[in-house]
Amino acid sequence: MKKGRAEHKIERAIRLYTECDGICYLCEKPLGKEYSDLLKFYGEILRKGKVPKPNIKRAKININEDHVVPRAVGVVNSPENIRLTHMTCNGKKGSMLYEEYISQKQKVQSV
Ligand SMILES: [Zn+2]
Repeated sequence: MKKGRAEHKIERAIRLYTECDGICYLCEKPLGKEYSDLLKFYGEILRKGKVPKPNIKRAKININEDHVVPRAVGVVNSPENIRLTHMTCNGKKGSMLYEEYISQKQKVQSV
C-alpha cells in the first residue's frame, strides 16, 4: 500500500498511544475508551491495507496531538515534540510552553 499523510498520522498516533500508555501528558489522566477504540479500529484498517476515505477524515478530526514546544515558537515536527492529549487539555494549553502550562495549572490548583 502506498501511504499518504493520513496513514502516517494514524501510524504515528498508534505508536504515540503505545508509548504514553494511553495517558494524556497534560492532565495525566487516561485518554479514554473512545480514543483506544478509535486507534484499535485504525490499527486493523492499516493491517488490512485498506483505508476508506471517510475514515481518514474521521481520524484527522479525532486524533489530537500536541506540540510540546508550540509550533508558534518555530520548532520542527520532530517525533519527540509530539504527544497525545485530550482535545480540551490541548485547547487549554494553547500556545503555551509545557512548563508554563504546568506552573499555571499548579497556581489554579493552589488557590
Ligand atoms: Zn488531558
